[in-house]
This record gives sequence, structure tokens and C-alpha cells, in this order.
Amino acid sequence: MGKALIIGAGGVASVCIHKCCQNPDVFEEICIASRTKSKCDALKAKLDGGRTKISTAQVNADNVDELVALINEFNPDVVVNLALPYQDLTIMDACLATKTNYVDTANYEPLDTAKFEYKWQWAYRERFEQAGITALLGSGFDPGVTGVFSAYAMKHHFDEINYIDILDCNAGDHGYPFATNFNPEINIREVSANGSYIEDGKWIETEPMEIKRVYNFPEIGEKDMYLLHHEELESLALNIKGIKRIRFFMTFGQSYLTHLKCLENVGMTSIEPIEFEGNQIVPLQFLKAVLPDPASLGPRTKGKTNIGCIFIGKKDGKEKTYYLYNVCDHEECYKEVGSQAVSYTTGVPAMIGAAMLLTGKWNKPGVHNIEEFDPDPFMDDLNKFGLPWKESFSPDLVE
Ligand code: NDP
Repeated sequence: MGKALIIGAGGVASVCIHKCCQNPDVFEEICIASRTKSKCDALKAKLDGGRTKISTAQVNADNVDELVALINEFNPDVVVNLALPYQDLTIMDACLATKTNYVDTANYEPLDTAKFEYKWQWAYRERFEQAGITALLGSGFDPGVTGVFSAYAMKHHFDEINYIDILDCNAGDHGYPFATNFNPEINIREVSANGSYIEDGKWIETEPMEIKRVYNFPEIGEKDMYLLHHEELESLALNIKGIKRIRFFMTFGQSYLTHLKCLENVGMTSIEPIEFEGNQIVPLQFLKAVLPDPASLGPRTKGKTNIGCIFIGKKDGKEKTYYLYNVCDHEECYKEVGSQAVSYTTGVPAMIGAAMLLTGKWNKPGVHNIEEFDPDPFMDDLNKFGLPWKESFSPDLVE
């Protein structure tokens, strides 16, 4: 049915590419392009031979001209950006220049400030609309499935949703004292930033990890979780009717937090460049280089993830509570695609988002967050492609 150019060949891209190959009716042809071409070639070698035709290319996604040349050569129907958030705008520029649809999983972040906001990407709305192309923002799990869950809850269960708590639990154990489950630089920027949530239309800021709760996660048990800022709060507060408060919590074990505090205290998580033996280095980028590669965690990680949303709102004048979540097993993911569950839960929705555009099930020129589309075909594909969802009408609530 179509051609996808996938940019990036890391943990998330690897899962997405496995899943494209499991969906050859939709993904007839893919090109894997990244900075290090050998990683693209290794993925091709692993997956070649099926019905999806695979090619590879080298590209520096910071360079719009290089991207435009590659898009013109391969002529895809959609570009799936699974590089890093720093490349979002250059890839969107190249999509505009070539009139090609765009999908990503994380909002743009400037390299020199850890800021998670949609304003830079929302500034492309009119230009994408005029070009007749669709940008689907945030098609991972969170953001991504959490937005689809919200749209589904709104469509089928509520007249208005007043409270959303997004709960992201990773109860996986990789056996290392400290490692991150996706790109360490992006992960540490996210968790060492101030927390925040939206209440009555206003952002309320907290110190990093200031708000802690304990939650009894289905199929996992009790875990400590902490309130973080997360990008989908900004779009969901606008797109879901009736929101009074929306929060995001993520679980962290004590060992992770103790290591992170220590690294912060000695300056290793800083993104300010420093002079080291005559070279400028960014401490956080150096830290990334010495930490385990998230891709290497796959064979060692045991346990499950549980990510979902608790909704409280009104239906036919009555208060109603609804919890939608997915439980994913690290070892099962590794058996299937050779990656742990954090890459899996992001790579599967990235494939599904691209499939929605390729099949024309979603077609809305402009720049849109995922909850702006009809959730039903996406929810069906989650069940079909390895992320089945579960629901509860009487969940424990978060204080
Ligand atoms: P990785 O670091 O494993 O992979 C990133 C890939 O992008 C690498 O192949 C890297 O190339 C490539 N890349 C980086 N810079 C460039 C560039 N300038 N040009 C071309 N390629 C480049 O990251 P992950 O796979 O863990 O994460 C991918 C994305 O997914 C990130 O944006 C992350 O924020 C997002 N994410 C979203 C989640 C969600 O639920 N929404 C959850 C987890 C992640 P090289 O191999 O040369 O370094």
C-alpha cells in the first residue's frame, strides 16, 4: 500500500521496523536511514527476505538538504522520525519541501535547553495544511497510546473528562545498578527537569521528583511513582473536553534515584558544555557514552511494564471512573523482536501511526497530536500488533 522512510536505527526504530515487516500489506517498501549506516544494514540483514522490500541509506538528519535529497530519491508516502527530538524540525522542513507526511514519537527539544513544548512544531500547522500533508505528532506510547486512550475514553465512555492521571510503570530489572531504558541523554534530561501538571488551565511547577505516590499496578503490584512534566499534558489539556487537572507519574526504583542524585550532585547530568583537556564536552553526552547502551538491555531485562490512564469524568450527568492500560512483558518482547519493552511499547505505536496515514484511515492535513484522530482503528491495531489493552471501571485512584 505504501512506502515509509524510517529515520534512526536505534532501539525504537528497530522495533518499528520489525513491526512494519509484520504488516507487509501496508508497508510494501521501507528505507532505513540513519547517521550510522552499518546499524541500518544490520537491521536489513536481519529482516530481509519477507514481503516488505528494505533498502538503507546514510543521512545526517540535522541537514535539511541531505534529507530532501534522500526523500526525493526514495519518494516515500510517509517519513517516520525515530531519531532524536533534536531532529524534529529539520525533518519537518524536509517533509514540507517534498510534500511528504510526517510521524514522530517525541516533541522537539532544542539541544541547549531541556524544554518540552509543542510550540515549535505547532508553528508548522498552516504550512502543513497548505501543502496538503499531515504531521502526526507523538505516536509512541507516552505520548502516543496515552493520547489514543484519551480519545477512546472520550468517544465511548464520557461526555466530559475532568481528571486524567497518566501512570507509567516500568517494573523491569536489567541487573545493572544504573542504566536507562531509552536514549540516556533524552531520559535524564526528562527526569532531572522540574515536574509540572495542569490544574484549572494553569501549569503548576514542582521541584524534580517532589511529588511521590505509591500505586498498586495491575499485574505488577505496589510501586513508588513520581510526578514528572510530560509533553502530552500540554496537548491533552487542549484537546480533551472538560479537563480540570492532568498529571503524569512515572515509577523509579531507589537505586536509580540514588545514582541520579549523585550524578547530578557531581555535575554529570549538566547540558552546559565544559572544557576538558582542550576539548569542549557536554557532561551528559559523556555520561551517555559510559552508560550501557539501552539496546543491550534486551537480553537481561525481566519483568513487566504497565502504562495507562485513569479518567474521571461525567457520563449522562453521573460521575464515572475508567482505567485503560497495557501490560507488556520485557522477556516476551525480547523473544519476539530482540528488544526490551520500553523500545517495544514505543516502536509498535510508531508503526501503527504510520500505517494509519498510509492506509488513509487518518488523513487530516496540518500538524496534529494523536488524540485529534479517530482512536478506533488504532485501538484495533494495538490488539493486533502486540500491545493489547485492558480496562477497569473501578480502579484504585491516585490521591
Ligand atoms: P536511540 O539513541 O537508541 O536511537 C536514536 C537513533 O537516531 C540512532 O540510530 C542515531 O544514530 C539516530 N540519530 C541521532 N542523531 C541523528 C542524526 N543527526 N541524523 C541521523 N540519525 C540520527 O534512541 P531510541 O530509539 O531510544 O529513541 C528514539 C526516539 O524515541 C527518541 O526521540 C525518544 O525520545 C523517543 N521515545 C519516545 C517514547 C514515547 O513513548 N513517546 C519512549 C521512548 C523513546 P547513531 O546510531 O549514529 O547514534
